[in-house]
Amino acid sequence: MKFLVTAGPTREAIDPVRFISNRSSGKMGYALASAALEMGHAVTLISGPVCIAAPEEAELIRVTTADEMANEVQTSINTGCDALIMCAAVSDFKAREVRARKIKKHEGLTCIELAPTRDILATMTLPRDRRVIIVGFAAESESLTENAQKKLREKQCDFICANDITRMDTGFDADENELTLFFRDGSQRHLERATKLELARIVVKICIDIAEKR
Ligand code: C5P
Repeated sequence: MKFLVTAGPTREAIDPVRFISNRSSGKMGYALASAALEMGHAVTLISGPVCIAAPEEAELIRVTTADEMANEVQTSINTGCDALIMCAAVSDFKAREVRARKIKKHEGLTCIELAPTRDILATMTLPRDRRVIIVGFAAESESLTENAQKKLREKQCDFICANDITRMDTGFDADENELTLFFRDGSQRHLERATKLELARIVVKICIDIAEKR
């Protein structure tokens, strides 16, 4: 199979030196890429700026902004892939206007007007036969089940992997994670705390099982 995995944060510029971003380390996405490669599959990894090394056998496409990530995801979907795992923590907002010059401290800055970024999963165009398996991630600090189920419906996913980011020992930047998977038929599967690579292997295996049943 051909896997398309997105990972890491995106960065949205405010001026030439400042940006809006988030705490995503890319570890979960890179683990998913490694797990798929380990199982003999081809991987394209579309990554925002991170400080970790990508698995060598992956085709690595580096991006910075949400718009760049959206374009690369659509291009790879058009070229053909069997599964898209959208693990990236795409910035929800960008500066409405990016300043061409660095904003000087003495000029003062009391507010930055924001605009929403494009939601990649919700707006990408899928092949007409919709044979691509789509997996979303949801990092939630409240109402995990409700929010994950809402995203599953709105973002055309086969399943959503949700994690509770109020826990300091799992989630962002940690080496371990704990996930609850929400499927289209209403079922759920809880994956107990484990390393991101161990969890990634299970998520990739589920994608392969869904593909085999289609
Ligand atoms: O940020 P949110 O909780 O909505 O993210 C849920 C899923 O949607 C994730 O898989 C994320 O990669 C994806 N997403 C996206 N485009 C955005 C924001 C999030 O595809 N602009």
